[in-house]
Amino acid sequence: MSLFITDECINCDVCEPECPNDAIYQGEEIYEIHPHLCTQCVGHYDEPQCQQVCPVDCILIDTENPETPEQLEEKYKTIMASKA
Ligand code: SF4
Ligand code: SF4
Repeated sequence: MSLFITDECINCDVCEPECPNDAIYQGEEIYEIHPHLCTQCVGHYDEPQCQQVCPVDCILIDTENPETPEQLEEKYKTIMASKA
C-alpha cells in the first residue's frame, strides 16, 4: 500500500526530502504522494521515512489499495531500474 497525506498537512516541507523514491511533491494545496512511486520505503528502510518525520502525523497508509510485500518489492525494483 502506498501512503497518502491528509488535509491536516501544514506544508512544513519536512517529508519531501526524506523520500528515497521522490514520491512526495507539493500539490495545489498540500503535499501529495505519487502512489506509483511509494513503496512504503520497502527496499530502502524498515519504516516509512515520511511518517517518521511528519510533525502532525497526517501521513497514512492507503488501506483501500492493498499491496503485498512482494508487490512493493517489485515496485521498488521497477523504480530503481527506471533511474538506472
Ligand atoms: Fe516516500 Fe517512503 Fe513515504 Fe512512500 S513511505 S512516500 S516511499 S518516504
Ligand atoms: Fe505535510 Fe507532514 Fe509532509 Fe509536513 S511532514 S509537509 S505536515 S505531510
